[in-house]
Amino acid sequence: MAKVLGPKCRMCRRAGMKLFIKGERCYTTKCAIVRRNYPPGQAGAKNSKPRLTGYGIQLREKQKAKQFYGVSETQFSNYFSRANSKEGNTADIMIQFLEMRLDNVIYRLGWANSHAQARQFVGHGYFRVDGKKVNIPSFHVKPGSVITLKPRSEKYSYFETLLPSLSGKQLPSWATMEQGAYSAKVVDAPKTEEAVQGIFDMKAIIEFYSR
Ligand code: SF4
Repeated sequence: MAKVLGPKCRMCRRAGMKLFIKGERCYTTKCAIVRRNYPPGQAGAKNSKPRLTGYGIQLREKQKAKQFYGVSETQFSNYFSRANSKEGNTADIMIQFLEMRLDNVIYRLGWANSHAQARQFVGHGYFRVDGKKVNIPSFHVKPGSVITLKPRSEKYSYFETLLPSLSGKQLPSWATMEQGAYSAKVVDAPKTEEAVQGIFDMKAIIEFYSR
C-alpha cells in the first residue's frame, strides 16, 4: 500500500502551502505553515521564496499533487499514462482517476480527516461499495456507486462521534449523503477546478509528464 513517506509538514513547507496531510492538526495553530512558513533546512528562512522557472515549477506542482493525494510516484505517473491514452482532456481524466480512488472519496465525504486516515480505514475493511467489502485504497469508484460503512464499524466511537457533525458538512458536487447515515452516493464525475482548490496546477503537471 502506497503512503506518504518522510516528515509530512516538511512537504508543506517545501511547497509553501498547506497540503492537509496531517488531518486535524492542519486546521490548528500547530500547523507548521502557520508557525514556520519558509522552506525547511538551514538556508530555508533566508531563502523563503525560491525562484522557480519551467521545469522547477512543473516538478513542484507534480510533487504537491502527489503528496496531497498521498500516492507514490509510480501510481501517480501510471494515472498520467492511463489518462493520456484515453480520448479527452488528459488533466480532467487524471483528476477523475485521483478523485475516484476510494480513499479520496472517504476523505472528501469527511469520514476521515486525512488521506492517510482514509487509507487506513479502507485497509481495515470498514467500507462497502455497492454492498461489497472493499479494502483496496486505490479502488476506482464509479458514478452511481453507493459507499456505506459496515454496520459493525458504525459502533466504533470515532464514527459515532463524527456522524452528527457531518450533517453540516459541504460535500463535493459529485456526491450526496443520506442524512444521519453513513451512506453516500457518487452522482457525477469530479471536476478539475473543484478538485485542485488552488493547491496544484494540472496544466503544469501534464507538461511535466509530456516533456
Ligand atoms: Fe503539517 Fe498539515 Fe500544516 Fe501541512 S497543513 S504543515 S501537514 S499540519
